Amino acid sequence: MEKAGVINAIAFDKTGTLTEGKPKVSEITPFTTTEQELLSIVYTLEEYSTHPIAKTIVHYAKEHGIPLKIGEAFKNITGKGVQASIDGEIYYGGNLKLFEDIHADLNHHVKASVKKMQGEGKTVIIIGTESEITGIISVADTIRTTTAKALEGLKRTGVKQLVMLTGDNEGTAKMIAKDTNVNRYFSELLPEDKVDAIKQLQNEGNKVAMVGDGINDAPALATSDLGIAMGGAGTDTAMETADIVLMADNLEKLPHTVKLSRKALTIIKQNIWFSLLIKLVALTLIIPEWLTLWMAVLSDTGAAVIVILNALRLLKIKD
Ligand code: AMP
Repeated sequence: MEKAGVINAIAFDKTGTLTEGKPKVSEITPFTTTEQELLSIVYTLEEYSTHPIAKTIVHYAKEHGIPLKIGEAFKNITGKGVQASIDGEIYYGGNLKLFEDIHADLNHHVKASVKKMQGEGKTVIIIGTESEITGIISVADTIRTTTAKALEGLKRTGVKQLVMLTGDNEGTAKMIAKDTNVNRYFSELLPEDKVDAIKQLQNEGNKVAMVGDGINDAPALATSDLGIAMGGAGTDTAMETADIVLMADNLEKLPHTVKLSRKALTIIKQNIWFSLLIKLVALTLIIPEWLTLWMAVLSDTGAAVIVILNALRLLKIKD
């Protein structure tokens, strides 16, 4: 509570914290093949990945009876995507960064489609080989209904900086930042970059809390001054590392926690100073022999009662 009472910046992981973390397939755009074939390739690529995007695509493919191809040499490329060998060719599925890394031929048409979807706040998965882009699929995650209200409450409580951390591209991040009430965002972050973002906020003189749900978030939760994990959707690692676990993933309780902690901290300080002062006065009165027994009892027991009554004011603080 002491830590929560001095927080003035809160960093939120986007996926699963500000958003539901359950993205849905939104658009399918094949370039050099049919929609069915594109889905079959991406289904095969994503089958072994545990990333929420992969789960969404696999679920969609299964639901639509898309056949699975025979894939080999599956590889996860953290923060970028996946790769596998299908029919003797290495296919990739992931973001622009991944395709730039492999020096794929991203023509004007592909880049324009990606930009358009990102501008709509969607996450784009490019599918293709080094020599050819097969198509793109976009997925969209919905913002939790409680997010905007909770963040508004935090601003009212006096938390100055509400920051979103995301591995998404700039376009998607900007769009979601606008809808969620955050006043700053860091985009295109790899898991290790989240730790640097927290350190940057701390170096700017802030006491930083971090709210996250995934394994990727554990280092950032540990680096922050106060780690807060999502209880329902959160991974065990995130919950182990955090100082606070929000049960039922309810961000709405966060403003209350900060408010209560701030008030508790103020009352603790008031009580300490009051107790010290009373004892000092009593001690001073001993010297001229003015302190009577009753005064001594009152300065001790009476002070204890006042301190307790002062602390009871915390019970009046409602959501
Ligand atoms: P993350 O930091 O894990 O959220 O990943 C950052 C970005 O990498 C995502 O927004 C995607 O663009 C991309 N990415 C990561 N894993 C995958 C995957 N399995 N399939 C497609 N894209 C992925």
